[in-house]
Amino acid sequence: MDKVVEIDPNSGFCFGVVNAIEKAESELATGALYCLGDIVHNSQEVSRLKKKGLQTINHADLQAMRGKKVLLRAHGEPPSTYEQARQNRIQIIDATCPVVLQLQKKIREKYRDTAPRQSQIVIFGKSGHAEVNGLVGQTNGTAIVIEHTADIEQLDFTKDIYLFAQTTMSVDDFEAIVAKIQARIRPPVSFNYSDTICRKVANRMQSIRQFASKHDLVLFVAGEKSSNGKVLLSECLKANPNTHLISNSSDIAPQWLQTPLSIGICGATSTPKWLMEEIAESLKG
Ligand code: SF4
Repeated sequence: MDKVVEIDPNSGFCFGVVNAIEKAESELATGALYCLGDIVHNSQEVSRLKKKGLQTINHADLQAMRGKKVLLRAHGEPPSTYEQARQNRIQIIDATCPVVLQLQKKIREKYRDTAPRQSQIVIFGKSGHAEVNGLVGQTNGTAIVIEHTADIEQLDFTKDIYLFAQTTMSVDDFEAIVAKIQARIRPPVSFNYSDTICRKVANRMQSIRQFASKHDLVLFVAGEKSSNGKVLLSECLKANPNTHLISNSSDIAPQWLQTPLSIGICGATSTPKWLMEEIAESLKG
């Protein structure tokens, strides 16, 4: 019997990533362009754009650079990056996702309004992740980053707490953290939280579980650095333990294909559609 291969229609780039790539391609058509960090957590897409001339740089390179054009990717950057660019006469092509820009603004305003009261701005996110660095930068580096419920022990429960979330975190984990903090707060100390998780990712959790559960084998395509890839992969594994993380078709072990009749291919918001299509083709061949 022939194998059935299906690509999840909801997987692939979110609009923030599509927007960043479109901006990069249109700038590349006019001349040299540098990108601060990988434009997307997917090495195949990075090398596709590299062939078109996009050069990835890091913050040390930016410091040494003068008068070039640099694209800021969807994750966003802290204010210090804009300042550095201004000093070095670098033209910024800002492809920060509008959802992230909105979150940066919220945190910046909360910091401005509450700093005199020494409140704590807390960000539920991955420490060191580019988006989180951009968020912490809105608070002059003072925000406390927590990754797990156990990390709330770092908080001072005698001071007000304002909690935000990196856009790609799990809603369930955020709610668990909110409940734990709420249980420890005593008046007059206040606790405010803002669920700033991007629904482009959160809404995929349920749909990807449904997709994974209807196939014999699931191939989840993502780069190892993709934070939302990790979240979505764990949802697939919950729904279907016969799920494997791959970055391209050469990662597919022949023994996985011995019995399955129905194969589902899905991925993160940083996984290009063309890559999933390429993998689907290789399975049919
Ligand atoms: S996941 Fe959401 S916040 Fe992040 S880049 Fe995509 S659309 Fe923007």
